[in-house]
Amino acid sequence: MDCPYGHRFSKTRYGTICPHCGFDLDTPEKVYVNLRKECGLSLREERPVCAWLVCIEGARKGKSYVISFGENFIGTDRDNEIQVLGDEKMLGKFTLIFFDKETKEANLIPARADGIVYMDNKPVYNKYVLKNKDILEIGDSKFIYVDFLTECKKYLNDFEYEDTDNEDKERLTQKEKRYRKLKKEKLTEEEKYRDKRLGKNLSMDEEKPIYAWLVCIEGKRQGRSYNITEGKNYIGSHDTMSIQVLGDEEIRDKKHAVIAYDERNLRGTLLGEESMGFVRLNEAATYTSKDLKEGDILEIGKSKFFYFDFAKEYHQW
Ligand SMILES: [Zn+2]
Repeated sequence: MDCPYGHRFSKTRYGTICPHCGFDLDTPEKVYVNLRKECGLSLREERPVCAWLVCIEGARKGKSYVISFGENFIGTDRDNEIQVLGDEKMLGKFTLIFFDKETKEANLIPARADGIVYMDNKPVYNKYVLKNKDILEIGDSKFIYVDFLTECKKYLNDFEYEDTDNEDKERLTQKEKRYRKLKKEKLTEEEKYRDKRLGKNLSMDEEKPIYAWLVCIEGKRQGRSYNITEGKNYIGSHDTMSIQVLGDEEIRDKKHAVIAYDERNLRGTLLGEESMGFVRLNEAATYTSKDLKEGDILEIGKSKFFYFDFAKEYHQW
């Protein structure tokens, strides 16, 4: 095997992780896209983002977890939609957030899981509709609730995820069944992260805390949110890109677009001069630096992305 940084190593001995630099050739984007292709499923995100829970205190500080339609169980179990490792007080199924597709509301349903969630130091026992910026204490950790769908509607009035799988229902169910089975055999991202950090005797803190997101609202990867972190974020299809987007053939391999996030002024900037591919910002071609604000739409390849700032509005690291 060759790692993208030029190191050669034995796959039988080291698997997909380069022993020289620690780079994992199985990037999360590649694992997802390959498995979907293998099962003949569309590349759209299986759990399109409706909201996020961001860990602002506790073992996984800096990490953002996606909340999608339907059930979102939170806890250490590997079949949870939101698996959180590293917090000693976390339970297998600590709590449940149910995101209602019709009302677009996230309901905390404590009765369906085993832990006691606190808000403002009070236990929550009954169903509760989450509001943007609510803070939940789960185990020894604190999470802030960030609503995407409602906030997004302020800018895109009629936004809805496309729901068009014009395929035979029964066949689709078969494919999805196989997909879930194969997925179960693989380590989850959270498990990979734990193994990597504990192997180096490091804490479970997120290496690169979240500063902003790019949400794919149109294109092959619709529903997927990509993390923007401090410093320069390179967008492209190559394994070494910090934001790897697969499935859109018109996205260049390296540095199609570059976004810098400046942690002093809490501002994301599209670096037009460094972007090697064609990028439109709010429908205008962009060749120079342009500061980004919530609600901006970036067109990269055939895909559209919604820019959502976290650090400025919600929490500062
Ligand atoms: Zn390497």
